[in-house]
Amino acid sequence: MEAAPTGQRSSHQSVEKGRSRHKIPRDVETDIAYLYEVLPQLSRIFRIIDKIGEGTFSTVYLAEAQMTDGSRRMFALKHLIPTSHPVRIAAELQCLTVAGGTENVMGVTYCFRKEHHVVIVMPYMEHQTFVDIVGSLSFEDVKHYIFHLLKALRHIHKFGIIHRDIKPTNFLFNQQRREYSLVDFGLAQGTPDTQIELLKELLGLDKAPRSVFGEKNINGTNSHKPGTDKVEGLLLKTKREEVIPRKIVSSKHRSVPVRTPLNQKPKAPAVSPMLTCNCFMTDRVCNICLSRKQQVAPRAGTPGFRAPEVLTKCPNQGTAIDMWSAGVILLSLLSGRYPFFKASDDLIALTQIMTIRGSRETKEAAKTFGKSIVCSRELPRLDLRILCETLRGLRSWDDASLPAEFQASRNPAEVKQDAGSPARKRMSSGSLRSIAELQEMGWDKAPDDVYDLLDKLLDLNPATRITASMALQHPLFKDMTV
Ligand code: ADP
Ligand code: MG
Ligand code: ZN
Repeated sequence: MEAAPTGQRSSHQSVEKGRSRHKIPRDVETDIAYLYEVLPQLSRIFRIIDKIGEGTFSTVYLAEAQMTDGSRRMFALKHLIPTSHPVRIAAELQCLTVAGGTENVMGVTYCFRKEHHVVIVMPYMEHQTFVDIVGSLSFEDVKHYIFHLLKALRHIHKFGIIHRDIKPTNFLFNQQRREYSLVDFGLAQGTPDTQIELLKELLGLDKAPRSVFGEKNINGTNSHKPGTDKVEGLLLKTKREEVIPRKIVSSKHRSVPVRTPLNQKPKAPAVSPMLTCNCFMTDRVCNICLSRKQQVAPRAGTPGFRAPEVLTKCPNQGTAIDMWSAGVILLSLLSGRYPFFKASDDLIALTQIMTIRGSRETKEAAKTFGKSIVCSRELPRLDLRILCETLRGLRSWDDASLPAEFQASRNPAEVKQDAGSPARKRMSSGSLRSIAELQEMGWDKAPDDVYDLLDKLLDLNPATRITASMALQHPLFKDMTV
């Protein structure tokens, strides 16, 4: 459940406005003081040291506690935003308690609640920021990383949990200790046969009657009194969490309009224009689309990790969506580029997928799940090995003949624009590493197997996409104990 920091602030603000009793926390210290204030019981156990994560729906703190044997231990305290629906919170907690604590899935130690404030206490796992390490990992590191991610996915999928937000910030990694941990079940959903009871309940909520498309005031947290109007809160939250079709088309990226009517039956062959908005294929953005953007804004997380069936709002989504996201992570690991798909919305993300996997292939896959994609330009499917090796700097750009989108990333200006940290700079221009260095890291000997696995994870068709347990049997991992 990440989003831009600004998103967090604004959602926090709107919550605060509603109560106007507390000041808006402006820095880490005031945030910590605020947490002690709303959950006083924390102060008897923890010394909260720092803020370590901040997303739209939570803030995570590092805290220290003295144990009964006198030792000190570190914990991560996840403070959920007070407007989260009780069932949503309980479901997140149940995922951690039932499936967590083993197989590279984060466990939970305790949970505190006072009124509408909830803190989930987890063992703290020291980890690196993905962007800082992605360019410096050896081939063996990458193989281990993806193996352990697949193990975590196999484990949660066995419980019928669809994580829905698989991305590096939700898969903690400690390079030195080769430790891994999947976190953040804040968006998780259940498969129809899930063993997580509360995810079943959430499935039920999703079937609750929905209001019409362009409805306003979705983010009206002001009118929502936590704890009193459960049903309203429920619907409110459900709507926010839904991936509601946003901008069906906007003037900026009209080349790839996707028509995705609501309430479409799973196997509807083509797409009826019935519920498309009235700015489709025009120069303007209609009121329906304007209000839709509002609805989705707080959810604006990471379209770059979403599977094609998610991007096209296919109503039947299963555990395969997590496998796609794992594929996008592997694509980053193999190319040394992160984020790989830098998409600000779902349509851009879909276009970027087509740039790599081919537009014809994407259209054909979409047809199998009842979606129709219109694309003005034919985009050829790229060879994954050539793509990754070129981006990493193992091949010369001139040999690769990559499309213009990728040529752009050779431009030093872009590297500069992207540069957040020195590590990032190095990563963005993978070619700055010498061939000798890359060889030392084993990149010249990366077997075809890894690109075969990547191809199977990035299968555009969810019905044939590799599952986590199949992936762990892949020849790439023949020397590893599953
Ligand atoms: P959100 O829903 O806000 O994204 P997450 O559960 O993903 O919340 O946590 C946000 C960040 O906090 C993570 O990306 C990670 O950096 C940090 N974090 C979360 N849980 C832990 C933990 N158990 N140990 C260490 N860091 C953690
Ligand atoms: Mg997260
Ligand atoms: Zn419109």
